[in-house]
Parts: sequence; structure tokens; C-alpha cells
Amino acid sequence: SVTDPERLREIVEEICDAMTAETERGRVADYIPQLADVDPDQFALALVLPDGAVIAGGDADTRFSIQSVSKVFALAVALGRVGDALWNRVGREPSGDPFNSIVQLEHERGIPRNPFINAGAIAVTDAILARSEPREALGQILQFVRFLAGDDDIAIDPAVAKSETASGWRNAALANFMRDFGTIQRHPDKVLGTYFHQCAIAMTARQLAHAGRFLAFDGSLSPGGSRAIAPRMARQINALMLTCGHYDGSGEFAFRVGLPGKSGVGGGILAVAPGRAAIACWSPGLNAVGNSHLASIALEMLADRTGWSVFAAN
Ligand code: GLU
Repeated sequence: SVTDPERLREIVEEICDAMTAETERGRVADYIPQLADVDPDQFALALVLPDGAVIAGGDADTRFSIQSVSKVFALAVALGRVGDALWNRVGREPSGDPFNSIVQLEHERGIPRNPFINAGAIAVTDAILARSEPREALGQILQFVRFLAGDDDIAIDPAVAKSETASGWRNAALANFMRDFGTIQRHPDKVLGTYFHQCAIAMTARQLAHAGRFLAFDGSLSPGGSRAIAPRMARQINALMLTCGHYDGSGEFAFRVGLPGKSGVGGGILAVAPGRAAIACWSPGLNAVGNSHLASIALEMLADRTGWSVFAAN
């Protein structure tokens, strides 16, 4: 597989050119009013290599709403807090249903199928809230992301959080339903407020790629560098990203790209080529299952051209 930075730079440029020329861009999420206003005509790709070198193209310094990509960071914080006890309240199976689906919750006695659908992520946030108030919990998630990215210039976009608080009826239904089953313990309003703010973290593709290094390098910020989480936990999170990171498009993403990835309705995807690179890709237009249309295509091109895959021998 490709490791030469010069060749990688050419590949990133080629992908950015191809994506800029694409006319089909998917549809920007409009169920969160604030996201409906984002210009769909944007694309970014950023890689961070083992030595910390960054290869970035397109709008890699434009901030976007990371939305569900935040579920990866919240999961790492929750596992660090409560360890394997987290799995008493959330499963580890792909759902095959849309990101905001409620049907399986009733069948499985209020236990969400995995931590990356909305219900599961809300349960994870509740686990973080077990020992902290919302402001403190949010501070911890944000501090963790800043630490991972090595960048204090990362913040929550209050307008996006407010917009979702005012329109997130479906998530409110999920939280109330789980509160009734006892899957979440805090008041649903507190859990939702924390969840909406965590989803409203805004980052550039460059910052997001840096924040993803811990998953590419066995829990550390670089090979042999500072430890963020235990290696076992990094492997577990990668496995969940591969099987559950793209909602009901997870199988398709694993088939096409072959790398763990987590998408968000802001159009971002964080992908991981273990030992090779942390990758962030962003374009706001979404495909039919709510994953970025162009970022999905771009990551498939990247995997094809580099040979990076968790299923390959090299
Ligand atoms: N905050 C969004 C929601 O809960 C996140 C969804 C997503 O990015 O898939 O609806």
C-alpha cells in the first residue's frame, strides 16, 4: 500500500479535483434548521500520517458541524469513565435501520442496538452524566476532543445546538422512551441538552483528522506517542465504526471503502486506516441514508488508490 507522502499528496489533489468537478452533490440535511443554510458547494479531505505530517486539500480549514462524528469521542469518554459496564445499556450490533429509528428500541426492551445510532449515543451521553452535571460533562467531552486534536481552538456552535434543541422531537421521543425503560437515568431534558451540544461541536477537516489519530495509532496520538485510551478500546471503537458507523449504509461503506468510519449529518466522515493515517473528509450534501455523498465517493477513491484497507495484507 502507498506510504510515500509525495504520492499521497498527488492522490489527495486528484480526489479534490474530481470532487470539485462533480455536479451531483446530494442534499444538505434540513431537519436541523441551522444545517439547512450550509453551502453544499464545499469539499475537504485531510490526512494525518504517523509522523504527524498533514496532507490536506479543498476546504480543509472551514469549520463544519461534526454532528454524529461526536459519538466516537463521547463513546471514548464514557468507556474511560464506566468501562465495560457501558455495555449493560447499549448493544454492539448494526441496526440496519435509519439513524433516528425507534422501532428496535421497543423490541429490545429499551436497549439501543449500538452506540452510533441516535438512541445509543443518547444512552452513552447519559452514562457520562451519571457523575457530572451537563455543563461539566460537555466540558469533559470538549476538552478530550481538544486534547486529541492538540488544538484548543475547537468549540461548540451555540446556534446549531439551539436549532436542534428547538426541533429535535424525534430525539426527545427516543430519550423519553429509554427513560421509561431505565436505560437512561437522568432527566431526558438534561441528557438531550448535553447530546445536542456535543453534536454541535464545530471543527475543520484538518482538526478532525488530528482528533482521529488515537484510533489510527492504537490509542495513542502517534505511534509510540502519548496515550489517549487503551489499545484494546481503540480496536473496539474501530470495530464499531466499521460495523455501525454509517447507519443503514454501514455494510455498503465497509464494502466500498474497507476502513472504519463514522459519519455525521453535517457531511463529515472520520475514517481510520490503522497504522497509516487518520482521515477526515467533508462535504455537506448527503445521500439517501444520511451519509455525505461526496465524502463517501472520495474515501472510496482514496482506499482504491492507496490500497489502504483493514482487509488487506499490507
Ligand atoms: N444531532 C443529530 C441528530 O441527533 C445527529 C445525527 C447525525 O449526525 O447522524 O439528529
